[in-house]
Amino acid sequence: MRPYDYTRAASVRDTLAHAGPDTAYLAGGTTLVDLMKLEVMTPSHVVDINELPLRGIAQDKDGLRLGALETMSDVAAHPDVRRHHPMLAEALELSASAQLRTMATIGGNLLQRTRCGYFRDTSTPCNKREPGSGCSALAGINRTHAILGTSDSCVATHPSDLAVALVALEARVHLVGPRQSRVVPAEALHVLPGRTPHVENVLRPGELITAVSVPRLGAHARSTYLKIRDRQSYEFALCSAAVVLDVRRDTITRARVAVGGVGTRPWRLEPVERALTGRRMTTTTFEDAVRRAADGARTLEHNAFKPALLRRTLVRAFASLQRPGS
Ligand code: SF4
Repeated sequence: MRPYDYTRAASVRDTLAHAGPDTAYLAGGTTLVDLMKLEVMTPSHVVDINELPLRGIAQDKDGLRLGALETMSDVAAHPDVRRHHPMLAEALELSASAQLRTMATIGGNLLQRTRCGYFRDTSTPCNKREPGSGCSALAGINRTHAILGTSDSCVATHPSDLAVALVALEARVHLVGPRQSRVVPAEALHVLPGRTPHVENVLRPGELITAVSVPRLGAHARSTYLKIRDRQSYEFALCSAAVVLDVRRDTITRARVAVGGVGTRPWRLEPVERALTGRRMTTTTFEDAVRRAADGARTLEHNAFKPALLRRTLVRAFASLQRPGS
């Protein structure tokens, strides 16, 4: 690990005073410390934000608010989360091992870096780690890589299950920066790789995630998070689906669908949402709706199975929300 300066910040203002191009914020450290040991990330200044007042899990009439420093395990276990947003708890519990969930924070989870093996291997070219060096995955081992939103510069998937769930739940991410505070939809937090895959999100220099807010679900909402992976014990998603359906008298009146493990960012499937809306909760509806789920997909040598896996994952997720006699 390269040497670095360490500061323990006492307040948000104190944190922002240390913001700089070579500064990293340390919360749970489950990604940052890992990548610093590998010398994939080499900040010269680490600002520890664990003392900041960015905790709290609160449910009111408008929905849920999560402090950015709440841990994944505390959020998943909270009674309000389990009662009002069970899909969030499912996504968090499927995200990582219990040890990691105890350390990792909500803000850190959203900003975690890709699990592309070449990104972590400093002996290989990687445009995300070293812009302009090339992408080893394009002609390398690319079984787990993305099929949607890829570019000739990068085909890495975004690894966060939580981010996929938050997109389907139409959550908002609260940010504070040296100049202003702002709120961005979870759907707009992450960006496509294009020709600049080292730029992964819309955070401006020095900005910090302070909280996430999740609107209250309607009385007729049903939701689920389904994750398909190589090992059920713990693994990143080959494909995942976060689904919220409003269902009245067995007819879908509104649908929100996002998928993970297939896109370079959490991927909302609006064509599938439109195809579901106004239809009855039947297998025919589900199979019709997913026909165009993988439109625009670009497969690689080892991940050509993903479009079919994506469609099957969605149908299974929808079917899990059917209720006898509803
Ligand atoms: Fe790097 Fe992206 Fe290529 Fe992986 S897919 S080697 S992260 S540029």
